[in-house]
Amino acid sequence: MSIAHDSYDVVVIGGGPAGSTAAALLAEAGHRVLLAEREQFPRFHVGESLMPETYWTFKRLGVLDRLKASRCPRKLSVQFVSHTGKASTPFYFFKHRDHECSQTWQVLRGEFDQMLFDNAAAKGAECHDQTRVIDVLFEGRRAVGVRLKHRDEEPRAIRCRVVVDASGQQSLLANRLGIRDPNPRLRKASIWGHYLGARRDTGIDEGATIILHTQNKRSWFWFIPLEGDRASIGVVGDVDRMLKSGRSPDEVFADELERCPALAERLTNAQRQGPLRVVRDFSYLARQPAGDGWVLIGDALGFLDPVYSSGVFLALKSGEMAADAIHEALRQDDTSAQRIACWAPQFMRGLTLIRKLVEAFYVDQFSFGQFMKAYPHHRGRLTDLLIGRVFDGDAAAIFDDMDPWIASLTNAQAT
Ligand SMILES: Cc1cc2nc3c(=O)[nH]c(=O)nc-3n(C[C@H](O)[C@H](O)[C@H](O)COP(=O)(O)OP(=O)(O)OC[C@H]3O[C@@H](n4cnc5c(N)ncnc54)[C@H](O)[C@@H]3O)c2cc1C
Repeated sequence: MSIAHDSYDVVVIGGGPAGSTAAALLAEAGHRVLLAEREQFPRFHVGESLMPETYWTFKRLGVLDRLKASRCPRKLSVQFVSHTGKASTPFYFFKHRDHECSQTWQVLRGEFDQMLFDNAAAKGAECHDQTRVIDVLFEGRRAVGVRLKHRDEEPRAIRCRVVVDASGQQSLLANRLGIRDPNPRLRKASIWGHYLGARRDTGIDEGATIILHTQNKRSWFWFIPLEGDRASIGVVGDVDRMLKSGRSPDEVFADELERCPALAERLTNAQRQGPLRVVRDFSYLARQPAGDGWVLIGDALGFLDPVYSSGVFLALKSGEMAADAIHEALRQDDTSAQRIACWAPQFMRGLTLIRKLVEAFYVDQFSFGQFMKAYPHHRGRLTDLLIGRVFDGDAAAIFDDMDPWIASLTNAQAT
């Protein structure tokens, strides 16, 4: 079916979690929304482990029952394995808060993203896959629409009052406007794939995400159990070391796996399904979240790092916060940058807390175990950060002690 109209209230670029969330909520609020997705759905995507705080956006979107009825493994905890092979006690989310929001899911992104895309359509958004936005149209500094190509049709212009860029790492607008700043401290690459038959834990640990450092601590692996017998396994390390050594991704992956016996043991009887995939330079932030008539959400706004599985949560949350701001802006007939980005300062404060925890993870001498021993009263705050409870609560107070602790470690190394 072709695109129905030449003009909409809102055009959303990209049908990932951010775009489908914004499209669903805006359509539900009564606005005319076009959601344009470049790929044919369902499509493969990295990012399969969710954070528990996704619960609240799922609830608002009305998809909780579908997730509960799915075969996706329940994720009740996250566990860290050090470079010496020592496994931490799992951080069980329910020990911190006894509520059903304290568990989440490990998802196959093809199916999960399709479910959110279909949900946006059910709420009244006009959703098209195989529809690539070629450019955003501006009149002066104001975005007024997009130019897109739908399947085999000729490219056409679509007008709208607000353009929401949810194009993921493609960051269509931030790239075009030259406002995408890579994080120089996190120049990472990842090589990852799916395995069948990897050994997973049993009982309440069956669906846990495990983060394992390699012996030299220069890279780390994720182990994400997926439905059936499938597991997602990926390694993350500095981009120069991982991709510029002249070795193939298969060779690099095998070398890193050799340095991670705790994971290699789990893969003894496992078979890889499909090729290994490579992603690189994925940590960046746009300097500006919005302009007149346009706003960035999800990875199109920025991405931190995969270590705490925060990407989908932040995509959903920014989609939700932006949708509320756009709804108000459309009602008031004021789609200025200031109004449609009014949520951004609060969002950035939450993002900064997770960023600080990511940077702590990459400080060589830092150990969460030792920090927790010294400051056991921060355990709840650390769990809040791992859950994604960063937009309320007092998780920020952990950094009153963690910042000086890290500074003393790095100063000691420098002298
Ligand atoms: C190595 C790695 C591991 C990760 N692991 C996790 C994890 O375990 N848990 C987690 O929560 N997150 C993880 N992430 C992050 C997660 O993948 C993203 O944060 C999340 O997918 C962002 O959602 P989004 O909707 O913003 O973008 P996406 O999910 O990327 O969706 C963007 C969509 O826009 C479409 N698009 C792009 N350009 C256009 C265009 N011009 N026109 C139309 N459509 C377009 C794309 O096809 C895509 O479908 C990981 C990321 C990396 C790099």
